[in-house]
Amino acid sequence: MTAYTRADFLKMDQADPLAPCRERFLLRNGLIYLDGNSLGALPAAAPERMQHAVTREWGMDLISSWNVNRWIDLPQRVGDRIGALVGAAPGQAVAGDSTSVNLFKLLAAALKMAPEGRRVILSDPGNFPTDLYMVQGLRELVGENRCELRLVDETEITGALTDDVALVMLTHVNFRSGRMHDMQAVTRAVQASGALMLWDLSHSAGAVPVDLDGCNADFAVGCGYKYLNGGPGAPAFLYVAARHRERVSQPLAGWMGHESPFVFDINYAPAAGVSRYLCGTPPVLGMLMLETALESCWDGVDMAQVREKSLRLGDLFIELVEKRCAGHGFTLASPRKQALRGSQVSFAHPDGYAIMQALIKADVVGDFRAPDLLRFGFTPLYTRYVDIWDAVDRLTAIMQQRSWDKPEFHQRAAVT
Ligand SMILES: *Cc1c(COP(=O)(O)O)cnc(C)c1O
Repeated sequence: MTAYTRADFLKMDQADPLAPCRERFLLRNGLIYLDGNSLGALPAAAPERMQHAVTREWGMDLISSWNVNRWIDLPQRVGDRIGALVGAAPGQAVAGDSTSVNLFKLLAAALKMAPEGRRVILSDPGNFPTDLYMVQGLRELVGENRCELRLVDETEITGALTDDVALVMLTHVNFRSGRMHDMQAVTRAVQASGALMLWDLSHSAGAVPVDLDGCNADFAVGCGYKYLNGGPGAPAFLYVAARHRERVSQPLAGWMGHESPFVFDINYAPAAGVSRYLCGTPPVLGMLMLETALESCWDGVDMAQVREKSLRLGDLFIELVEKRCAGHGFTLASPRKQALRGSQVSFAHPDGYAIMQALIKADVVGDFRAPDLLRFGFTPLYTRYVDIWDAVDRLTAIMQQRSWDKPEFHQRAAVT
C-alpha cells in the first residue's frame, strides 16, 4: 500500500480539473463538509439571488412577476435543467412538490397503466422508508386488491419479476450503503417481464452519471436539496418518459396541472405534456434557489469528471480509514467495487452515533443512520482531496484518544 502524506493530497488538488468549482459555494473555513448527500452546500450566487427575488420580484413587481419574471414556467424550466443532468431530453421532467408526493403521483399513474392482473409494486426492504410508506398509503386508498407492496432484497429483484408485478420501484443508489444498481440492466429485465420501472434518483442526481432516456426508464423521481444544492426543503422533481406522458393522468389533479388553469373551468382536464404532473402553486422562492444552484454550480459540469473524482475520493477515504483506524472496530458497509458504489461511503461501528458527534465537533460533518452507520458523502464540486486526508486524520485522533466516549456525544438529537 502506498504510504500517503498530506502533501500528496494537496498535489492531487492542484491537478484536479474540478478544483475551481469549489468557489461556486460558500463554505466556512476549516469545515470539512461530507454531508452534501443530505443537504448540499450553499451556492455562492444564492444569497444575492434570494435578495433580488424578495426585494425586487416579490417586493416591487408583485403579482406581475408570474409573467414578467417568468415564475409561471419555473417548474418546467427547472425540470429541464435537472433533466439535462440525468439524461432526460426536454419536456419529460418537472420540478415541484417533495419526492414523497411525486412518488405518490407516479405510483398511482403506473398502477393505472398496468394491465389487468398486475397489481404488485415490487421494491426492496432497504429502500428509503418514505418510498415504501407512499405505497402503503396508496394501498390504503385503493385497496389491497388493486395494490400490493412486495419486498425482496435489492440483489434479488430481477429474480422476482412474476406476472403480477405492475411496477418495480428502486432507489438507484441506496441511502445507507451507497450501493448502486445497474440502471440499464435492471430496467431492461423489468420491462422484458412486462412491468414498468420507476427509479428514485435522490442519491444519484448530481452524484453519478444517469441516462434515463438511454436506459429507456419509464418513471423517475428525485430530490433537489441533496447533491443538487437546491437548499433546505428544495422542490423535488419527477420524470415521465415521453412515450407515457399523455397516456395517463395523475391523481393529485391540481389546477397547475390543468390544461388552462386561468380559464377556471370546474372540470379537470390534464395539461398536455409533463405539466399534467404538477399539482398546486410552486414554492417560488425555493424553486428560484434550486434554479440558481443548477445555473451557477451545475451548468456545463461534465458528470464523467464528477464521477471520476467521486470514486477516487471514495477509494482514498476507504483506504485511509482502513489503514489508519485499523483495530478500532470499523467495518466497510459500502461496496468496495467502483461500479457498485454511488458517491458516498459508509462504515459500520457499534458506537457510530457518538463517533459521528465527536467528528462533527471536530468540524468534519458526516451523518449517522441507525442502527450503526457513519455516512460520508463526496461532492466533487466542493470536496477537496486534502479534506479526505484531514477528515481521516481527525477521525484517527478521536479513535486513538477515545474522545468520542463523552456523555455529550451520546445524546441523540432529533435529526441524526
Ligand atoms: C432524501 C430521500 C427522499 C426524501 O423525500 P422527501 O419527500 O423529499 O422528503 C426520498 N427518497 C429517497 C431515496 C431519499 O434519499
